[in-house]
Amino acid sequence: MEQKDLEYLSLEDWRQWHIELLQATLTRLYQRVPFYRESLEAAGLLPEDLAVPEDLSRFPPTTRKDLAEHYPYELFAVPLREIVRLHVFPWHPNPIVKGYTRQDLEALRGLTVRFLSAAGLRSDDILYIALEPGMAVWIEDLKEGAEVLGATVIPPSPRRPETDLRIMKDFRASVLATTPSLARRFLRVSERLGLPLPRSLRLLLLLGEPVSPRDRALLEEVFGVQTLVAYGIAEILGPGMAYECERRQGLHLAADHLYPEVVDPETGRTAPEGELLLTTLRVRANPLLRFRTGDRVRLLREKCPCGRTTPRLEILEPGYEERWSFRGVKIYRQALEGLLRETYGHLPEYRFRTAEDPEEEPLLEIRMNEDLFRPSIVALHEEAHRFERAFREFFGLPCRVKWVEA
Ligand SMILES: [Zn+2]
Repeated sequence: MEQKDLEYLSLEDWRQWHIELLQATLTRLYQRVPFYRESLEAAGLLPEDLAVPEDLSRFPPTTRKDLAEHYPYELFAVPLREIVRLHVFPWHPNPIVKGYTRQDLEALRGLTVRFLSAAGLRSDDILYIALEPGMAVWIEDLKEGAEVLGATVIPPSPRRPETDLRIMKDFRASVLATTPSLARRFLRVSERLGLPLPRSLRLLLLLGEPVSPRDRALLEEVFGVQTLVAYGIAEILGPGMAYECERRQGLHLAADHLYPEVVDPETGRTAPEGELLLTTLRVRANPLLRFRTGDRVRLLREKCPCGRTTPRLEILEPGYEERWSFRGVKIYRQALEGLLRETYGHLPEYRFRTAEDPEEEPLLEIRMNEDLFRPSIVALHEEAHRFERAFREFFGLPCRVKWVEA
């Protein structure tokens, strides 16, 4: 069956399909990943304890902390030689690593192609990608997916937003894939410098962070385009993971690759609205069981007016995980605090915030205390720069440090 047709299976077929794939996944995890075998045994469970998809709720979840703690390759279900690509995400003290086999990459490409076709990308389109280097996985996916469809792709590189605007205009970009905050940044820059927005654009693919209805309406009006939203999680899948169809009534989840659950994060019980947990169904290298995404969602299970029967996600804000997002790149509290400790030898009292204005850098206010007090202004500046540099190297983003009096 074509990947595209799978999205139209009957609900009964979906159920049967999920039972088979979940059983295969659990068996694979149990046999191949010691971490999962131990956690299943600790919970007194065996793969055959799953008879229906609802039984999955008895199985232990996986957290980002688990991924970092089992660095570098304890969570791989295949030998290292079968892994053909590794993506690394900032975490502290260990990074989080995700491996892909050749088969994983093919599946991923298929999903991105399906998403881009659903969004209406054609071979005569010119796709301009404007994403921060911290979203390397997404850049890679989009590039490969669009190339399969025969579109012309202009991938990002470090350049000023005014240069982006100019290239989009000169090369008549028709589709722009970016984050909502970078799209707003383009608006700002175009206003500030009196540069016209590229009129060749017909579609804006908004990725990486939620967009408010107000911002969405603004972007559509000022750019004079349609917008479609897609959602992915770097540790699992890129933008082919969930995306809007032309009806724009929630994001269709790639249910042929992922099994979703929504639970109350406090009790772990199934709830209509709550934290999204995802179990991978066909991943070879790094399968994940009930991965806690930290995102708050509502799951719509009924058939969409577009005809697709895949469950749809409505992403709600704020999520559950302690994190910030800057231009679509996520900054987790745990990683930030690890970096502060590493830089200053202890965790100072601090306040971190990202501004509403996409042109403004994130601000870190650190309370001065005896450990951090440096008698001269020069020394204080140097201490601030030390962290700003560390932050840039770690997250690939700018940050401004400000001292506040104790
Ligand atoms: Zn639909």
